[in-house]
Amino acid sequence: MPVEEIRKTARKYALQNAIWFNGTANSKAVAGKVIAAFKDKNISPNEIYQISVSACLEVNKIPIGQQIAELEKLAPELLKKEKKERDFTLPELPDAEKGKVVTRFPPEPNGYLHIGHAKAATVDHEYARMYDGKFILRFDDTNPENAHLKFYDAQKEDLRWLGIEWDEEYHTSDNLGKHYKLAEQLIDQEGAYVCKCPPDAVKDGRFHGKECDCRAISTEENLDLWKDMISSSVEGAVLRLKGDMTCVNTAMRDPTLFRIIDKSHPLHGDKYRVWPTYDFAGAVEDSLSGVTHPFRTKEYELRDECYFHLLELLKLRKPHLMEFARLSIEGMPVSKRKIKPLIEKGMVSGYDDIRLPTLRGLEKRGILPEAIKQFVLSQGISKVESSVTFSIVEAFNRKIIDPIAKRYFFVQNPIKLVVEDAPIREKTIRLHPTDEKLGSRIIKTGNTFFVPKEDIEKINIGGIFRLKDLYNVKIKEKNNEIFAEYAGENLIPDSAKIQWTAESFVKMSVFVPGLLYQNGNYNSNSLEKVEGFAEEAVSQLETGEIVQFERFGFVRIEKQNKAIMGFFAHK
Ligand code: ATP
Ligand code: MG
Repeated sequence: MPVEEIRKTARKYALQNAIWFNGTANSKAVAGKVIAAFKDKNISPNEIYQISVSACLEVNKIPIGQQIAELEKLAPELLKKEKKERDFTLPELPDAEKGKVVTRFPPEPNGYLHIGHAKAATVDHEYARMYDGKFILRFDDTNPENAHLKFYDAQKEDLRWLGIEWDEEYHTSDNLGKHYKLAEQLIDQEGAYVCKCPPDAVKDGRFHGKECDCRAISTEENLDLWKDMISSSVEGAVLRLKGDMTCVNTAMRDPTLFRIIDKSHPLHGDKYRVWPTYDFAGAVEDSLSGVTHPFRTKEYELRDECYFHLLELLKLRKPHLMEFARLSIEGMPVSKRKIKPLIEKGMVSGYDDIRLPTLRGLEKRGILPEAIKQFVLSQGISKVESSVTFSIVEAFNRKIIDPIAKRYFFVQNPIKLVVEDAPIREKTIRLHPTDEKLGSRIIKTGNTFFVPKEDIEKINIGGIFRLKDLYNVKIKEKNNEIFAEYAGENLIPDSAKIQWTAESFVKMSVFVPGLLYQNGNYNSNSLEKVEGFAEEAVSQLETGEIVQFERFGFVRIEKQNKAIMGFFAHK
């Protein structure tokens, strides 16, 4: 019976499964494939199952980089297949024709973009590319209270960082003249009216489904009022759609289309005081700019009726409106509205705080744009609202950086170790366990080292451990410092391997982000500062490099003045 053959096959599939699932193979899944491969050979599934379980146990012990390297040798076709299966492709769009699809991403320039915007922008952009269509970047800047000049450019930078380029760009605020004309047309056809009721009365009327007196004003008078509104002699008036005040969908109870906002606009100054609401501007812009498949998040679903009703009244083309679930991540504020107060109250250090899901915060902690893209596409365009854990983003990132990140030693909470009779060495150590091309560094060692206190505490006097990639030492004395002696070169199975730095090292802090919210409450201990010594070669790294501090995790390096610091990405 080909036991050896079964073992080999199990090893292959275990490697493949582990690589798909971030280093850990699932024995059931693997056994299924192996059983299928030997189905004509009359071998007991139970035996195959046992072999698969041990194959998984073995494979799960080795780092993912090594798993990939091994599978590349054993069965490269399984790696290729993996790529295809994990290529998250979006489903076809309804009523879409090649060359004719137009999508848009419509941010309000009132903050930096976060990973939720990345989902929207990526979906819009991908669809335009999928159909050789057009992708428009539209700044929905029709609330001068929110729009700020610096955010137009900042949001463009954020999109470019994500690798998203657009075919056309414009500001909704540039079209206000057109919007005014359409508003006039609506009034003229008795589809809208100027309402001067105080906001509370409007709210009350909506709640009770009651029309107000303003609704009955004549068209001529309405047109005059509208002109007065625009030219600044009226206060506190709004233009409302003549909807249906008793409609079960409350979004249809005469929604506001235009309101007065007496605030200088970053691009238009004081030219306008009457500004369209999202209901009006969103629908009109999607239609006028030729968008065929506008996406919005599901919370707008109730407003769809208003969207189409308005376009119907204005005799404008109706796009194919699409909806997907808003992205939420457990313990993270994925919304500008939630992020802004955190910054204003000093509860985070700024928009690029590494605990935030802003693209700048993610970049700072070493999350790559490609990982964000794969993550958001993996979420798809379903409408089912759910909250995912950030570990999924980490897994995508790890898969990209594990094969390319250089490895260094970092010693957290260091304690001094003096080794008697230590051989003086100039040790060449590879920067990556499987990829030789990444090179190596030379570490000079004498008899003084620094090792992590927590690790040493676990080893008793007389115990032997290995200074990783160097040699063995035996502990003789433990005080404020550790005294030890050289204990040979040969690897001793099961002996602890300990990270170290030689006598020359770089002192540095690594900032480790935690979740900003726990059980819905703000967690003030969510940022940890870990002090430690890194090996000397770390001082040569540049700002922006992402490396792995062995046993500690992936860290993005930043140099500020003379100091070097790290931002923890993930394990
Ligand atoms: P925020 O609460 O972050 O201010 P917003 O919807 O007001 O959200 P906009 O700048 O208006 O922010 O959003 C631009 C686009 O990004 C919109 O199409 C919006 O639906 C989408 N978007 C915003 N947040 C998310 C999210 N968490 N998940 C998916 N899409 C989002
Ligand atoms: Mg908004």
